Amino acid sequence: MCIFCKIVNREIPSNLVKEDENFLAFHDINPKAPVHVLVIPKAHYDSFNDTPGDVIGKMGIFMQEVAKEIGIDQSGYRIISNIGDDGAQEVKHLHFHILGGTHLKWGHLADADPKDFL
Ligand code: AMP
Repeated sequence: MCIFCKIVNREIPSNLVKEDENFLAFHDINPKAPVHVLVIPKAHYDSFNDTPGDVIGKMGIFMQEVAKEIGIDQSGYRIISNIGDDGAQEVKHLHFHILGGTHLKWGHLADADPKDFL
């Protein structure tokens, strides 16, 4: 069973932000911003690639609610889902990162020199 399924099953603890019948939101253990919350479906899907559109739609509504409840909906935030090897996905259970609480940088993400993309 994957680590996020264990969080869903309460086999390992999480710092919970919000829960409903389909989704969980909890604080990332290795935050990359003052606010760094992970949102996962309770059902296991390996990544965004494997997830039905209706689940993604409901997750979107859930994430809007999370952003409002943690007070970043007006100040702004970023949602990221890492997908597969090139996306640097570590945990193979669909999750969205909600990042905020400060003005986030927007920069170069690849190892290669940006000049090589041109
Ligand atoms: P990703 O690279 O998108 O797969 O990111 C996985 C994220 O899960 C990382 O930001 C980790 O810090 C986070 N993470 C891993 N294990 C836990 C855990 N037990 N509780 C909270 N966050 C976790």
